[in-house]
Amino acid sequence: MTDTIVGIATAAGEGGVAIVRMSGDDAEAIFEKAFSARKRTRPYESHRLMLGHVLDEKGEPIDEVMGVVMRAPNSYTRETVCEIHTHGGSAAASQVMRRLIALGARVAEAGEFTRRAFMNGRIDLMQAEAVMGVIGAQSQAALKAEQRQLSGGQSRFIRDAQEQLLTLLAGLEAHIDYPDEIDEDEALEGLNDGLGRLISMLENAIDERGARIVRDGLHVALCGRPNAGKSTLFNALLGEDRAIVTDIPGTTRDVLEGSFSLDGVRVILQDTAGLRESGDAVEQIGVERARAALDKADAALLLVDASTDLSDEEQALVRMDMPCPCAVLLNKEDAGERVSVAQVNAIAPHETVLSISAKDGAGLSAVLDFLRRHAARPHELMLTHERHMSVARQALERLHQAQRGLAYDQPLDLCAVDLHEALYLLGRITGDSVDEQLLDDIFSRFCVGK
Ligand code: GDP
Repeated sequence: MTDTIVGIATAAGEGGVAIVRMSGDDAEAIFEKAFSARKRTRPYESHRLMLGHVLDEKGEPIDEVMGVVMRAPNSYTRETVCEIHTHGGSAAASQVMRRLIALGARVAEAGEFTRRAFMNGRIDLMQAEAVMGVIGAQSQAALKAEQRQLSGGQSRFIRDAQEQLLTLLAGLEAHIDYPDEIDEDEALEGLNDGLGRLISMLENAIDERGARIVRDGLHVALCGRPNAGKSTLFNALLGEDRAIVTDIPGTTRDVLEGSFSLDGVRVILQDTAGLRESGDAVEQIGVERARAALDKADAALLLVDASTDLSDEEQALVRMDMPCPCAVLLNKEDAGERVSVAQVNAIAPHETVLSISAKDGAGLSAVLDFLRRHAARPHELMLTHERHMSVARQALERLHQAQRGLAYDQPLDLCAVDLHEALYLLGRITGDSVDEQLLDDIFSRFCVGK
């Protein structure tokens, strides 16, 4: 017997409709008491949206609504789910909630609907986490990755790894138990090969930089001297998205940030503060400030005013050791070029040096190509959630440990312990081996009503 939970599934604030969702053994009975259909009679047909009213305890209408019963097990939670679509805003939905609570439902905790879907075996833990990922996705690429996870792509990959590991373990344990019946060299060689394959499969799925870019976007630092044309380029790249430029108060000076979508990947452009100080310290401060922005960036665009000779400061910037891929952009080519690609490469070789005009747009497509090259292309099996990568890394450590054990002829029992541990860890990704604490941790980050 499960109790019946209720929550508002739609976001707070004004909107066309608000959806009150209820799930549990008494959901239908409570729904029947609260809802009165205009044309249909009980028992209501499952999965059919009906027009009607929610009535209060005196039989007075609270709101005109659409109601639907989704009978178990064909529902989001696999329990009977009833939904009531009220008019938007919070007033109608809250009153309907109160009515359902008075009839015996209780307020759902954050993520409780999805937790029930997990507990009832409708989805695994990775899929449950993807539900939250889909809701929070900030770009097309992030949404795609979460949807792939929601449809079970990554779960199948982890299950495949679990199966491979189980086969290896079975072979190893057979060897431990019946050493005389199995050819030792052959068994160990097979184990070693299998471990190697499993390790590279998991390593291939962990791409932290790629995952971060898919999830959070490609952070690009725009640096260069004042007047090099950073703001002009910033506006040119942001194009129509200019409206979402925001000021982030910095310690010494503001950093402008704005984002645009490049083939579905969110690109976050940070215009590092122009340098306004004067005096001997200028060069040093310029490099330091650019450095701070660069440390956090995935890629950089270093702008140089090519309509005048390179200043000492610009030479120092060009010479900087870049912590991330950097394109040097020789700007203002329309105003006559005094700085050439060869000249820049003579100071310090760069993979990408482009002549552009931020003002009239020349060369901007080459700048976008550079960014495209450094934006991640999520591959099918890539893990994108930090939790999954972290647990997969721990499993990898165990597999490496087992591999070393084999190489150094350690007792095979120890190797088996490592493999068991790796198997347990993989189960923590899919939810096969989880405890309440982990589930609380994961689901408490959900919104109520999901
Ligand atoms: P920032 O200080 O680096 O942000 O530089 P701005 O974007 O404010 O540009 C400084 C000056 O250079 C402005 O007067 C711009 O109009 C000019 N400028 C920027 N890009 C170009 C360009 O491609 N060609 C020309 N001729 N002028 C440019």
